[in-house]
Amino acid sequence: MYIYKLEIEAGAADINSRLADQNAANRRKTVAQLNDQAKQIDDHIAHEKEMLQKGFWECEDGHAEEGPTPEELKEKAGEADVEPQLCAECKKPLKYVKWDRLTPKEQYDENKDQEDALKIAASKRQLALQEEGNAKGGEQMASKFRQDAQNSRQTADRVRKV
Ligand SMILES: [Zn+2]
Repeated sequence: MYIYKLEIEAGAADINSRLADQNAANRRKTVAQLNDQAKQIDDHIAHEKEMLQKGFWECEDGHAEEGPTPEELKEKAGEADVEPQLCAECKKPLKYVKWDRLTPKEQYDENKDQEDALKIAASKRQLALQEEGNAKGGEQMASKFRQDAQNSRQTADRVRKV
């Protein structure tokens, strides 16, 4: 009867260790996803900053493309009128955007957008750290359950030999 009880205990500990492992693995996946999302935000901000410094054409739908400045287009056109630049994707009119041509209000809004995005990236990293702590806790729990299962089986073996 005692052996039976020990084996039941070992079986339950096996199940618990598998559940704890699964849980920790899921949390590790979440950690990777969160860190990935944070990096994508950082990359996006860096790309936007670079584009703004260089200057680019943008339509109202947010499609962006590189190209000559309006002054370069004017020079090329000479006496003729400069044709309106159209978006390659949606054919809507393009507007030339460059950091030093933005109004102070537009610059303020850009900076604000970037700060907000950086805050989101930081909070994702913070969450990832928390989840990593939870994953470690789960892994420790799984290893404790494995130890419990082993102990129960060893005790059952010893009892059997008596
Ligand atoms: Zn477009």
